[in-house]
Amino acid sequence: MDSARFAQLREDVETFVRGRGADLGHQIEETGQVGPEVWSELRQRGYLRLAAPEAYGGFGLPFTQYLELLALFSHLHGSMRVMVHVANGLWRSLDQAATPAQRDRFVIPFVQGELRATFTLTEPNSGSGTDIKTTARRDGDAYVVNGEKWMIIFSDVTDYFLLFCRLEGTTGGEGTLALLVPRDAPGLEIRPMPPAMGITGTGHGHLVLCDCRVPVENRLGAEGDGLKVAFAGFLDPSRTAIGMTCVGLAERALELAVEHAKARVTFGKPLAERPTIQMWLAEMATDIAAARQLVLYAGRAFEQGEPSAALASMAKLQGTEMLQRVTDKALQIFGGIGYFKGEMERIYRDARMQRFEEGTSETQKMTIARALLRGGR
Ligand SMILES: Cc1cc2nc3c(=O)[nH]c(=O)nc-3n(C[C@H](O)[C@H](O)[C@H](O)COP(=O)(O)OP(=O)(O)OC[C@H]3O[C@@H](n4cnc5c(N)ncnc54)[C@H](O)[C@@H]3O)c2cc1C
Repeated sequence: MDSARFAQLREDVETFVRGRGADLGHQIEETGQVGPEVWSELRQRGYLRLAAPEAYGGFGLPFTQYLELLALFSHLHGSMRVMVHVANGLWRSLDQAATPAQRDRFVIPFVQGELRATFTLTEPNSGSGTDIKTTARRDGDAYVVNGEKWMIIFSDVTDYFLLFCRLEGTTGGEGTLALLVPRDAPGLEIRPMPPAMGITGTGHGHLVLCDCRVPVENRLGAEGDGLKVAFAGFLDPSRTAIGMTCVGLAERALELAVEHAKARVTFGKPLAERPTIQMWLAEMATDIAAARQLVLYAGRAFEQGEPSAALASMAKLQGTEMLQRVTDKALQIFGGIGYFKGEMERIYRDARMQRFEEGTSETQKMTIARALLRGGR
């Protein structure tokens, strides 16, 4: 996208984030619901298809331009931030192994917001990845799937679960499958989970699959390629993107902390005139700037066709740990009033989720250590 069009788009996003988007965020916190109007507003504005190719009906933004906008969207309520992030990332996972028929049936409708899908990996009784236990066996033109998944986001509204399982009798990296399971598949029960600490209003589900029949034509990639669909080509940009969502949310926390420090007077002076508060603000700004540069470094590597799993993990790790430090200091600057319901308190809760999303900090460190010990960059 040329720089004039991008500048206009950036301005539109900024106006939305400060105005209508902020109002929708308040509405979500007050009602505890993400109403259908939130989805349709994001969809109509085109914010759910910024990163997808123009050939699929997306805006085709280069990755680093998308990251710049994502930082702005991350000033929004956590539920809206996660909608933008998932819609602009998951199409890659669907697309990389799709046949032309599957591209028409699933990928393009997903990009255009006519179909919703959600990433379905985590299980109650195993680690995420080669440890997955949910099984499938072929029976004619269907797979018969048994197992459980939980904490699955958008379970209340999704049309398909992009579900990762394994052929019966296989272990480790062998025999994994990626299946698009329709929400009305026979044998699938979707149990709503309790509300989460943050991202208020977003529905999470515990799926129980009991002889659940899924058509073979809903399999993405070959038998054995399930984890490749889950991770390859999708996870690196997605982890980098989370690094940028941390930068955006931390920027909003800093903005609020600066406003509060200027307005709040104790012992005859605004907090902003106290050296302790100034040191904290300076540390927060420096922490955010450093994380932003690492995220952009990883983003440029991906954009230039040189993705690095270790670099993406570093961007996510640095982002989430920075966000924890910055939101903690911002809350401290607010004093006790920041602990009461309000934007600062909401940011603190929303921020905590990011250390779990798409792999914990420990998972990121394992990825980085593996690359180091293999002698990679
Ligand atoms: C709000 C929310 C939404 C989510 N949405 C989805 C979703 O849509 N789809 C989906 O598939 N998942 C989703 N998840 C799940 C999320 O991806 C996992 O919580 C995360 O990957 C961690 O896995 P776990 O919870 O099973 O932790 P566990 O694997 O039980 O790990 C617990 C702790 O031990 C550490 N640990 C685990 N194994 C090791 C090891 N070998 N060495 C060192 N440390 C280790 C972990 O880092 C973690 O800190 C969501 C989670 C949350 C909180």
